[in-house]
Amino acid sequence: MSTKLDYYKVLEVERTATGEEIKKSFRRLAMKFHPDKNPGDKECEEKFKYMCEAYEVLKDEQKRAAYDRYGHDAFAQGGGFGSGGNPFGGFEFNFGSGGFSSIFEDIFSEFMGGGPRRGGGSGRASYAKHGEDLRYDIKITLEEAYSGTEKEIKYKSTSACEKCHGHGTKDGKEPPVCQHCNGTGQTRRQQGPFIMQAQCPNCGGKGRAVKDPCPECSGHGEISRDRNLKIKIPAGIEHATRMRISGEGEAGLRGGQNGDLYVFVTVKNHKIYDREGANLFTEVPISFAKAALGGTITLPSIDGEEIEVKIEEGSQYGKQIRVKNHGMNVLNSTRKGDLYVSLKVETPVKLTERQKEILGEFEQISAENHPEQKGFFEKIKELFSKAS
Ligand SMILES: [Zn+2]
Ligand SMILES: [Zn+2]
Repeated sequence: MSTKLDYYKVLEVERTATGEEIKKSFRRLAMKFHPDKNPGDKECEEKFKYMCEAYEVLKDEQKRAAYDRYGHDAFAQGGGFGSGGNPFGGFEFNFGSGGFSSIFEDIFSEFMGGGPRRGGGSGRASYAKHGEDLRYDIKITLEEAYSGTEKEIKYKSTSACEKCHGHGTKDGKEPPVCQHCNGTGQTRRQQGPFIMQAQCPNCGGKGRAVKDPCPECSGHGEISRDRNLKIKIPAGIEHATRMRISGEGEAGLRGGQNGDLYVFVTVKNHKIYDREGANLFTEVPISFAKAALGGTITLPSIDGEEIEVKIEEGSQYGKQIRVKNHGMNVLNSTRKGDLYVSLKVETPVKLTERQKEILGEFEQISAENHPEQKGFFEKIKELFSKAS
């Protein structure tokens, strides 16, 4: 069990709250606990971060549904797998603080008139730039989810311009502090009781103004590049899992941290198997003769083997047969789920005269072979005799 605080409690909303209510409550709390309003208060900062984390989850329908179902485990399935051959230091399922800046923009841009203010009240814009997080969606088959797989993904991401080392200047050196905003990156002006704050137009909020731009990146300090990355998807991965690949998002500039890459894994529907956690389910149509006589059916197991499922003599419609250890692999474990086969006894159609003849004869001599039917008609008989 996770000891983390409940996200709903943290945001002071009911579990049934609408998205709008959650947003409103978060906004109210965020204004109160924002680090800028409580400089130097570590406890406040932690609280604020945790609120952002909670909001990041609850504002997203899909993540919220996963959280409602699995709690914190939905986002923290503990790394620790794939220790061999993964050049990227392993995946993390842990929820990072990656969505931090996007939440800021979400909530505060409405108040601050553009862009989050960073740098914690020092009065100076942060010259280092954190790389943005990126999202990549990937679809895999149920077989791939079973065995785990490796996928090569291609995406675009920015990285620092090599010519100017991310400074955006022709000489590759740090540009001077912006005179327009005095390095704060923001301009402020008073309007009645309000202080209106906006990004400095001279330096674009960086606090440093480039005079001679680097010809390679036109002064942006970064260049978009095609990226190829091999990612390892672990055996047993659940549908709608988010994998965080640390540091593979957009590159940080001028000493800033790289963003992360978030890979959202969708598991495609399978032709015959439905999955519920580690277990697989399927319905198999069989003839009533086979249901009566017994026999075997052969199924392709999810691991590619053929499995024989025994049908007992006299099996009824809807009977469920459990085939142990032929379900999915369980993530980070050697355990396996089971396969459940439901029998769907099919009534034959388009009979020939000969078949009708045989079945007619069978019907006449098999009254004793249908105990349920017999019992039911005896009850009917009793009802009639009482009525008369
Ligand atoms: Zn400026
Ligand atoms: Zn450059």
